[in-house]
Amino acid sequence: MKTAGYLLGAVLGLVGLIFLVAAGQSNTMPRVIIGIVLLGGAAFMIYLARSRGPETRITHEIDLTGETELEHLRCKSCGAQLDADAIEMHEGAIYVKCPYCGTTYQLEEKPKW
Ligand SMILES: [Zn+2]
Repeated sequence: MKTAGYLLGAVLGLVGLIFLVAAGQSNTMPRVIIGIVLLGGAAFMIYLARSRGPETRITHEIDLTGETELEHLRCKSCGAQLDADAIEMHEGAIYVKCPYCGTTYQLEEKPKW
């Protein structure tokens, strides 16, 4: 998703620049407008990709569980909100170790990806 954002941003930016360059030749106004809109879209895509950047990098190893699922992950035993640090991968299985009550169990929910 992050890479796709950068890619899309790069493509939009490139096409936007082409339109702006082409605007110098003929049909100026519409091309300038399209070029600016595309560059704006490019900036927005790159902004979106960047804004998710650091978070994704830190949790890279356990990225498979998906960010949204992590937010709602709670300890089976005590109900405490768990973060990425509480999750461990062992032989392809995802284990949760609760830092509050010390319970360790295998995560049964299938990751959505
Ligand atoms: Zn717990």
